[in-house]
Amino acid sequence: MQMKNVTSSEITICGRTYDEYIEMVKAFHGHVAPGMVFGGFMVDLAYRNLPRGGYFDAICETTACLPDAIQILTPCTVGNGWLKVINLGRFALSLFNKYTGNGVRIFVDSQKLDDWPEVKTFFFKLKPKKEQEFEALISEARLAHTSIFSIQKVMIDLDSVKTRRRGTLVVCTQCGEGYPENDGKICLGCQGRAPYSHCEVPSL
Ligand code: ZN
Repeated sequence: MQMKNVTSSEITICGRTYDEYIEMVKAFHGHVAPGMVFGGFMVDLAYRNLPRGGYFDAICETTACLPDAIQILTPCTVGNGWLKVINLGRFALSLFNKYTGNGVRIFVDSQKLDDWPEVKTFFFKLKPKKEQEFEALISEARLAHTSIFSIQKVMIDLDSVKTRRRGTLVVCTQCGEGYPENDGKICLGCQGRAPYSHCEVPSL
């Protein structure tokens, strides 16, 4: 057992105390999801392994929780394009220099979970969520802190994460809204990709 016995008062997350971070999580994410706690530790660990003061973009390999931890703690958001969510289904993130592609990847190391039964149960969904004990998981997460992650040096293929330009915009003949001409004769929404089972102008 590599119990480091880090108390939550000793944990800092990108310069904030653990409790300050938890308040930010509540305000932004709506509730304290365990994934947000792990995510805070991961972003902090990434910064500790990067040169100080650089400009870093982010890649997140899961849609669950982790993108919000990145958006709270870094200048990178989905909206400004500095955070790309590439759903590989792995609880992992990378922060990298946006000009050179050099960076670090932090991931949950399945080899390191055996000492942490609650954490392992969470990441591998070994029990239905209802049966997982939130408090036990969070206190174990704080004890485990960054010991369950591993770090890789990475070089990002910048071309593959470049924001695709929308090109020429035209008006869709079906819905009358603007869309990128490259998407086809009508917009993707009218091609059946919109998720609405019903859509109409309300009669007031
Ligand atoms: Zn359309």
